[in-house]
Amino acid sequence: MSKLLENLNTEQHAAVTLPPQAALILAGAGSGKTRVLTTRIAWLLQTGQASPASILGVTFTNKAAKEMLTRLGAMLPINTRGMWIGTFHGLCNRMLRAHYREAALPQTFQILDTADQLAAIKRLLKALNVDDEKFPPRELQHFINANKEAGYRPQQVEAWDEYTRKRVELYHEYDAQCQKEGVVDFPELLLRSYELLSRNEPIRRHYQLRFRHILVDEFQDTNRLQYLWLKILAAHGAEQPAAIFAVGDDDQSIYGFRGAEVGNMRDFEREFHVASVIRLEQNYRSHGNILDAANAIIANNSKRLGKNLWTDQGSGEPIRVYEAPTDIDEGRWIVEEIQQLVRDGASRSDVALLYRSNAQSRVLEQQLFSSGVPYKVYGGLRFFERQEIKHALAYLRLLANPDDDTAFLRVVNFPTRGIGARSLELLQDSARTFNTSLYATVPHLSGKPASAIGGFVRLIEEMRHATEELPLYEIVDHILDTSGLRAHYRAEREGQERLENLDELVSAARYFMNEADAPVAEGEEAQHGDPLSRFLAHASLEAGDHQAEAGQDAVQLMTVHAAKGLEFDAVFITGVEDGLFPHEQSMNDIASLEEERRLMYVAVTRARKRLYLTLAQSRMLHGQTRYAIKSRFFEEIPEGLLKWLTPRVQAGFGASASYGQRSGGSSSYGGWNKSPVSPKPREAMPQQPSRDLGGLRIGQLVRHAKFGDGVILAAEGSGADAKVQINFGSAGVKWLLLSLAKLEAI
Ligand code: ATP
Ligand code: MG
Repeated sequence: MSKLLENLNTEQHAAVTLPPQAALILAGAGSGKTRVLTTRIAWLLQTGQASPASILGVTFTNKAAKEMLTRLGAMLPINTRGMWIGTFHGLCNRMLRAHYREAALPQTFQILDTADQLAAIKRLLKALNVDDEKFPPRELQHFINANKEAGYRPQQVEAWDEYTRKRVELYHEYDAQCQKEGVVDFPELLLRSYELLSRNEPIRRHYQLRFRHILVDEFQDTNRLQYLWLKILAAHGAEQPAAIFAVGDDDQSIYGFRGAEVGNMRDFEREFHVASVIRLEQNYRSHGNILDAANAIIANNSKRLGKNLWTDQGSGEPIRVYEAPTDIDEGRWIVEEIQQLVRDGASRSDVALLYRSNAQSRVLEQQLFSSGVPYKVYGGLRFFERQEIKHALAYLRLLANPDDDTAFLRVVNFPTRGIGARSLELLQDSARTFNTSLYATVPHLSGKPASAIGGFVRLIEEMRHATEELPLYEIVDHILDTSGLRAHYRAEREGQERLENLDELVSAARYFMNEADAPVAEGEEAQHGDPLSRFLAHASLEAGDHQAEAGQDAVQLMTVHAAKGLEFDAVFITGVEDGLFPHEQSMNDIASLEEERRLMYVAVTRARKRLYLTLAQSRMLHGQTRYAIKSRFFEEIPEGLLKWLTPRVQAGFGASASYGQRSGGSSSYGGWNKSPVSPKPREAMPQQPSRDLGGLRIGQLVRHAKFGDGVILAAEGSGADAKVQINFGSAGVKWLLLSLAKLEAI
């Protein structure tokens, strides 16, 4: 038997060696889906059933794509560069770069990230004199993206009312603006690529003949457009469609809010005549208690496709729960705990801090930072999204494509060159009149605006001239000086870190070219586009992958969404409070609550050996102090799996208790490097009292004489001061004194 297949169980083995046909592997977290997918690629190559060029692998993050390539490289003596393995966005970008003409894009088209896109929309609304209170830019952005992700251009959107008609018109105007400026947003990458394939027969045929094996990880999170893209690439309906190998887990579908559809799994099964669905049930990742908790949580969801997960690893340690008085204490406690783990032999990169919302990371970062614990944040404000980096990239983008108005406006007066708002308005007005980009309009200006803005255009032209022959990293270095960015931050009191980041950008460019410059082997295709454009696309798509101090042993911080597919020895899920996790916007309807539950399931199943759930009784969020209570998800975990590390509040809520004691002291870390142990009997811990809400509980539906029906969200105070927070739907969210509210349970 091939060595590749040695470490697979029977079902995994069957999945890896399926004949080339449509296949669906439906299996729970940690059951080896990604491992099966990677091994299958290696097996197809090793047995000569496929050449590297005939493989298309879709992963969910760039990190996952890299990992897959590394693993393949280790399994087989092959050059992996000929394979198309990446995210949907990355692959579509690659295709559009190769066929930019046919896709009606400039060769140097630039990619707008989410923030750039919002800026472009705001600019559009302003130019068209649209009231942004009536048409909030963020909402419009969502409208546009949702339509693109469903595959709809403006003319295909059905608009029954005046308001929608106006939004469709703005969608249309926005597309025209992007086209004029030579920029594409994230969903556009996909839609454009899909349209290219559907309209251009030779190109379609080319890829259909080429990609005989299409393998998709995290299939449950594909949206409609991604599904259509796969369908057309696979030559669905043709005599010899490609073999699509899809792996997924309906319980981990967490992008419903962005249009992902679990229904795609059913459609796939039906439309591609999937003969058999393979299920993997053994979990190799987590110890028993962790898995039991995950299974118990997800069992509360309805409409599951149904799976069982088991492990032979032993139950391991109990799940530790820590309730802190404030979010700052929560962060401090976590940091101490991590330091203890490290003393006990854990490496920092095997520890993850997960949170439901990005905004939570600030406090955690602050605590880590002040204790000198190295950490790395995925998502959030990533390297390429930092202000100074975006400014530098804007100069580079103008070198590549002067028509990029977003980039133009970002730096035309940064660092300040005395260009006034009035001059820029004039410029924008003329650009509209001539229907040209801002850059191209400058020569038409006269008077004061002409000289001020003309100076900027000359600067860019000089930069272009001076950097023509330079290698990429020297181009970057050059523009940092000539733009005045370095001088600007040098003069800033707190500019040191920004200066370091700018230097890091030069390193990133150098690193990028080293990778890209590796000799192209025979039979491999060269990458399309000039180095600068490729680097800029990389910056938009792979933000965060090259943070400073690569290779340093650092604690991993990320949102639960970003943690999908990953695993760590120890995981802290922070802010496990009602209103935060589940998120307050998702607590009151079943479908959203079920998505929150899947998120919790994803979070819990990231842990191999040790899981912590932490919460705070009060926290600052978005500038306000919020009083929170523990998440309803605690109720769904069998008590016996949990170990509360804090004494519980004695009577009523709001009563004081002493915090910060570590139950068991350092002895509780003993099991770290040992083999899994069964949980010790639960230590004597005061029990969580049931809060006296006059027979009511959090989450309960109640009726109020004036406000109507609502759901209890939170509670505070005790006795005569007891207050409850209730969401009354259209009547709003209110705090009411329990003794006066006369609530009726319904
Ligand atoms: P997720 O749903 O979270 O993406 P997954 O199903 O993709 O999980 P993998 O990440 O592929 O699961 O595997 C989980 C862990 O189990 C990995 O560390 C993997 O190497 C290990 N593993 C998978 N199969 C086996 C096996 N047969 N023997 C030993 N270890 C295995
Ligand atoms: Mg996986």
